[in-house]
Amino acid sequence: MAQETRQHEHGRGAQAARSGASGAVWGVPVPVVIAGPCAVESAAQMEAVASRLKEMGVRVLRGGAFKARTAADSFQGLREEGINLLAQAGRKFGMLTISEVLDCRHAGFVAERVDILQVGSRNMYNYELLKELAKTGKPVFLKRSFMATLDEFAHAAEYLLKGRGDVALCERGIRTFEAATRNTLDIMAVPIMKERLGLPVFVDVSHSTGRAALVAPAAKAAIAVGADGIMVEVHPQPANALSDNYQQLSIEQFSELLEVL
Ligand code: PEP
Ligand code: MN
Repeated sequence: MAQETRQHEHGRGAQAARSGASGAVWGVPVPVVIAGPCAVESAAQMEAVASRLKEMGVRVLRGGAFKARTAADSFQGLREEGINLLAQAGRKFGMLTISEVLDCRHAGFVAERVDILQVGSRNMYNYELLKELAKTGKPVFLKRSFMATLDEFAHAAEYLLKGRGDVALCERGIRTFEAATRNTLDIMAVPIMKERLGLPVFVDVSHSTGRAALVAPAAKAAIAVGADGIMVEVHPQPANALSDNYQQLSIEQFSELLEVL
């Protein structure tokens, strides 16, 4: 076991130098703030949010296009059109873009248009998808499954590390008996995974809490514990959002969050 750990550290030296250890991830100084709407809904929405985020210094723009929704009747995302709208906003405002790849069939399409490929919580165990994404050579942002142990999370990351090795991890809360938050933020995942794999570790402060009012405390905890960054959902009009309206911050709320941090 000890030898295995040493080999991991040795093998990932170059990657660590590119990201956490050099104080930057994807060339962006840590802590990196990834912000943007849960889902891409329209060109106007992306323009409204990206222009303001850019002014506030955000360098990485998120926007879900292929959405993994629990209910089949929920908004499923704009899919290819959503990817194109996100890429357009990223180009216009000079921001890196990140979006989830739900399925192997979409990997090529998304990889050609978006800078960072996200693996969602529901797909952490989809090893064929992980292998496919590793082959694209693009940076991958791997979210922890809401039912994964940290050991399983690390093994999933190892599938991605068989590719170019530009991998960042994201703790996004797990399912526990506690119902006061949407998920239970396992904050110790940050130092444990950083030590185990030497990769940057983020905290998704929106999905881990499920409520806008809890985003700031979660973000403070993430930074305090040494996270390389946070992911935050921001929408120009959260109340009218087509998904996750309780947890998305308005642009004003997001601006306050940045000040607090
Ligand atoms: C998301 O970030 O858009 C998302 C669906 O998150 P998760 O996969 O963590 O539920
Ligand atoms: Mn969401």
